[in-house]
Amino acid sequence: MPDNQSTGALDDLIGCLKAAVAPFRATLQELHAKYRDVADGKVADYIPELALADPKWFGISVVTVDGQAFDVGDCQQLLSIQSVSKPFVFGMALEDHGREVVLKKVGVEPTGEAFNAIVLDEKSNRPFNPLVNAGAIATADLIPGKDFAERIKRLMATFSGYAGRDVYVDNAIFMSERSTGHRNRAIAHLMLNFGMVSEKVEESLELYFQQCSILVNAHDLAVMGASLANAGVNPITKQRALEREYVKDVLSVMLTCGMYDYAGEWAYRVGLPAKSGVGGGICAVVPGRCGIGIFSPLLDARGNSVRGIKVCEELSDRFGLHAFELGFDGERIEDQFYLRKK
Ligand code: GLN
Repeated sequence: MPDNQSTGALDDLIGCLKAAVAPFRATLQELHAKYRDVADGKVADYIPELALADPKWFGISVVTVDGQAFDVGDCQQLLSIQSVSKPFVFGMALEDHGREVVLKKVGVEPTGEAFNAIVLDEKSNRPFNPLVNAGAIATADLIPGKDFAERIKRLMATFSGYAGRDVYVDNAIFMSERSTGHRNRAIAHLMLNFGMVSEKVEESLELYFQQCSILVNAHDLAVMGASLANAGVNPITKQRALEREYVKDVLSVMLTCGMYDYAGEWAYRVGLPAKSGVGGGICAVVPGRCGIGIFSPLLDARGNSVRGIKVCEELSDRFGLHAFELGFDGERIEDQFYLRKK
């Protein structure tokens, strides 16, 4: 058993070798070191379980469409997925019911309001988009199945498919979400009044609370993003997570509505489809190239991870990842990947 000193030297050597063959990992390490001491924001505290998060947790993961993974920092630390789940359930609704049915129940318009606003589109009575709570509850209501067991099975299978491993619900978080979720219940019943959700609304709320309480880590978020980047196919398991024709639907709402009431600023500055959650996770997608997963539980006033935003802004800027950065001739992200196929 080597003593601590020689283990440290060996780790350093391995670190150097890895950095030499994987300069992109070194870039992520640089960003991690640059932002890990940013202590702005605070952890979510609307339920006790989230208030227990360690503000130091910070993981950055990038998974490419050819299956390479770059994990730096706390990429195995589990967090509740919270609102990051919403675009994936929207995709599921599209697969199960098609565009026409889904768009009768939920719009695709950004709100500029808080995610939990009790507001519906006055003309259509629809929730504005699937990434605010109202829209997410409406899409959860569309999860098919003859009973709760069948519906939750469909939900969990979808998330397991995106993550490439079996994912589970944190029961304590679920119980807290359920016992404090009065506002979500109010939103759901308002939608019931307008016929936007079915009579199964109580069961659908349970599904919504369950989906928010699924545990994932930063690496999982990157794999999920990479599955969307890879036209719906998980690049690690090679299994299809979402029908190809609906990938653009999901990415469009992520680009315009994914970052709460910061969505416009995000689209302008970062220019990537993404979704954040109050657990501190962000999943961003670089179509055709990679998924980015970040976990850092310190949130800004809108509920977005403070360090997560900084990392995404810098990655987008450095590598020209903005959707409309045409003819970018600076550093290319792929040039930093090692063992690039093709
Ligand atoms: N589960 C919480 C809610 O529904 C938070 C969702 C989120 O990440 N904004 O209000």
